[in-house]
Amino acid sequence: MIDAALIQRFVDVVGEKNAITNSGDMVAYLKEWRDMWQGSSPLVLRPASTVEVSAILKLAHGTNTKIVPQSGNTGLVGGQIPMGDEVLVSLDRMTKIISVDAADHSITVEAGVILKNVQAAADDVDRLYPLSLASEGSARIGGTLSTNAGGLNVLAYGNARDLCLGIEVVLADGRIWNGLKSLRKDNTGYYLKDLFIGAEGTLGIITAATLKLFPKPKSYATAFCAVPSPDAALQLLNLAKVESGNRVVAFELLPAIGVGFAAKHLNAVNPLAIPSSWYVLTEFADAPDAMEACLEHALQQGLVSDAAIAQSEAQRQAFWHVRESLSESQKFEGGSIKHDVSVPVSMVPEFIEAATAAVEHFMRGARVCCFGHLGDGNMHFNVSQPLGMDKAAYLSQWHAMNDVVFAEVLKRKGSVSAEHGVGRLKAADLVKIKSPIEMEMMRGLKTLFDPKGILNPGRVLV
Ligand SMILES: Cc1cc2nc3c(=O)[nH]c(=O)nc-3n(C[C@H](O)[C@H](O)[C@H](O)COP(=O)(O)OP(=O)(O)OC[C@H]3O[C@@H](n4cnc5c(N)ncnc54)[C@H](O)[C@@H]3O)c2cc1C
Repeated sequence: MIDAALIQRFVDVVGEKNAITNSGDMVAYLKEWRDMWQGSSPLVLRPASTVEVSAILKLAHGTNTKIVPQSGNTGLVGGQIPMGDEVLVSLDRMTKIISVDAADHSITVEAGVILKNVQAAADDVDRLYPLSLASEGSARIGGTLSTNAGGLNVLAYGNARDLCLGIEVVLADGRIWNGLKSLRKDNTGYYLKDLFIGAEGTLGIITAATLKLFPKPKSYATAFCAVPSPDAALQLLNLAKVESGNRVVAFELLPAIGVGFAAKHLNAVNPLAIPSSWYVLTEFADAPDAMEACLEHALQQGLVSDAAIAQSEAQRQAFWHVRESLSESQKFEGGSIKHDVSVPVSMVPEFIEAATAAVEHFMRGARVCCFGHLGDGNMHFNVSQPLGMDKAAYLSQWHAMNDVVFAEVLKRKGSVSAEHGVGRLKAADLVKIKSPIEMEMMRGLKTLFDPKGILNPGRVLV
């Protein structure tokens, strides 16, 4: 319980206008995208600068106040949602693009800049910031770094960690570390920035970042293909890499059930007329003639039964709309139990087969909707409730279903959280899958950076 006098001291840091104490005005900050958590908090603070974040953490450290950082509030594991007496620190006013350096291929931004705005700022100087997620219109840079977000272009450009050159962080006691460098090489001891990236706000609050930019591809070739099986899709991936001279920038696997959900609920039209069990959406950059040749060979080899190549930017966007509608459209089919998992790329087809069989054995009628980033071995193995089943009764099986799927992941030395992180959702699972020495090193780092445990308690480590 935080007393009124302490709340006032926090409010004084950001000013009355930028502090919310009325629960009615906090709704947008407390509502979680999947409705799995309903947040509560005595106070939302909206600092405008690193100095204000520092003052907040200094006060929190001195008074043992729990702090939850939040950027765009699109996280899918409950990390950014405060509970009980946790104070929410929102980065949503720290939205300055500090500098864009086209010659250096880098951009420096405050942590509250929306991902889409970073992409646009890069585009303005004929550069590309390649991180791309369905949530890019809301997710902010601090959140993408704190979750080490992946998304659609990891295959070619890596995940958020690979795209970050430097960060500025406010430590749990309020001290500021300015690590905003744009160096490509720096072997001067431990690579501290990488500890904060993917730490989900448990080690410090990221307040700014310097990110890598790339030359903008001159052209994209985008194809929506019908494939007979995940195994054929995997062979198509390898063919595409060779035929394009390794210019495959996206390779997404989509199941018929998911494409059907997207068409039914979100008007996302399947561009192919003849139905197929599986589809692939793939994109090559700067390899204009390679797509047609690749698909021709794939048809000859029976890896593809039909395909459409986008003939305009509008058609390309329409193809992507199908892919990007998959997550949201599942909401309309009742309860959906989610698994964001990865296995070695070559094992994806056998994993899908084994996990689907295991789930169907566990619950008759459960509808597997497995889709995602085949090129990275990262599948969103989501399971919609059996038709007609009560939603709450279905969702009560969340952890039991997770155990069924995770067993198949772990058999293949995979990860139970490929890109969404651990948050609250998977914190209890971590001890089951990490070795004691890994847990010991992680706990040691937490104690070093946040000895009082005020930052995001109960997330990642329990
Ligand atoms: C429709 C949809 C599609 C998605 N697709 C993808 C996808 O393809 N790939 C993918 O990786 N993710 C995906 N996500 C998940 C989510 O968008 C990402 O995890 C994103 O990176 C979160 O950014 P955010 O700004 O919303 O962070 P938030 O949700 O605000 O926070 C996420 C976590 O980071 C912490 N945090 C936030 N800001 C800071 C900061 N400045 N310093 C320290 N800690 C901080 C929070 O406490 C929390 O633990 C998707 C989500 C949705 C809703």
